[in-house]
Amino acid sequence: KAQAAVKIAKRSGKVEIYRNGVLKEAQRRFSIESRLRTALAQGDLTLAYQPLIQLQTGEITGFEALARWNDPDLGNVSPCEFIAVAEESGLITPLGRWAAYEAAQALSRWDAKFGQALPVGINVNLSPIQMARDDVASMFEEALRYSGVSGKRLTVELTESAIIADPDKARKLLVALKDLQMPIAMDDFGTGYSNLASLHSLPIDILKIDRSFVSTMLEDKDKQAIVRTILSLAESLNLHVTAEGIETQELAHALQSMGCGHGQGFYFARPMPENEAFDYWRARWNFETI
Ligand code: C2E
Ligand code: MG
Ligand code: MG
Ligand code: MG
Repeated sequence: KAQAAVKIAKRSGKVEIYRNGVLKEAQRRFSIESRLRTALAQGDLTLAYQPLIQLQTGEITGFEALARWNDPDLGNVSPCEFIAVAEESGLITPLGRWAAYEAAQALSRWDAKFGQALPVGINVNLSPIQMARDDVASMFEEALRYSGVSGKRLTVELTESAIIADPDKARKLLVALKDLQMPIAMDDFGTGYSNLASLHSLPIDILKIDRSFVSTMLEDKDKQAIVRTILSLAESLNLHVTAEGIETQELAHALQSMGCGHGQGFYFARPMPENEAFDYWRARWNFETI
């Protein structure tokens, strides 16, 4: 009897813990949403910039802009967490608009500091949720006009899911972005349900090979085979390739010898604040080899 009672107590304890877990999760999600709304209104988010490197020469060809949020109550919240909340709550539209303007403005601030246009661009991430709801082409057009930078220097990173969701809408958007001369990159490539036909028929310029294939490629032959396949696919379709998640020199060299054009990862640099990124570029332009 006593044993049975213990069992029941244990079981209901688990239920309690489970309830608390769900409750805590809901509370966190709720506080992230309300704090994020405030942060967006007050301009408390920042963009961090991670260099994109030409593997052959070590040249910095651009930066990926990544949202950062340090909240007074919540501390540093990971973009994986707050972007998901933003997508669920509709806040992704103002967040995405802010990121587009901020990235274009960063380019124009860098140009002003340097005294001429830097030979680098910035990549901006675009959420499929914003893409479905917002007039993204006009948003970019306005951000470019407002900042006075060429569309050639602002690359849009979108995921395969954005195209699958509504292929016709995606096509119209991509064509409009090409009218603005903006390069288009497929982010996290290999993780989604790639439609190879759409890859061929849509105006895509760059494939970014997902970190999950790149980072373990040297130990995992299957992953390496996937990377090789993506590289050869890109070559036949005339697309540029950027490998994400390069954390070691060994990996950088291996990818270079496999014919991968560009790379990004902690081995080269972590995402940095705007001024640091500019100094990083200025200290290296024209010289660096890996
Ligand atoms: P993503 O677009 O695939 O960005 C690359 C992520 O990989 C970044 O994470 C970057 O910090 C991380 N990373 C880069 N190199 C390395 C490496 O060598 N090792 C490891 N372990 N990680 C590396 P982050 O900044 O945490 O962003 C996560 C995701 O959040 C992004 O993935 C993107 O999907 C989303 N995100 C970030 N900023 C924005 C934004 O402004 N708008 C939208 N829509 N999404 C964003
Ligand atoms: Mg990205
Ligand atoms: Mg990526
Ligand atoms: Mg990724």
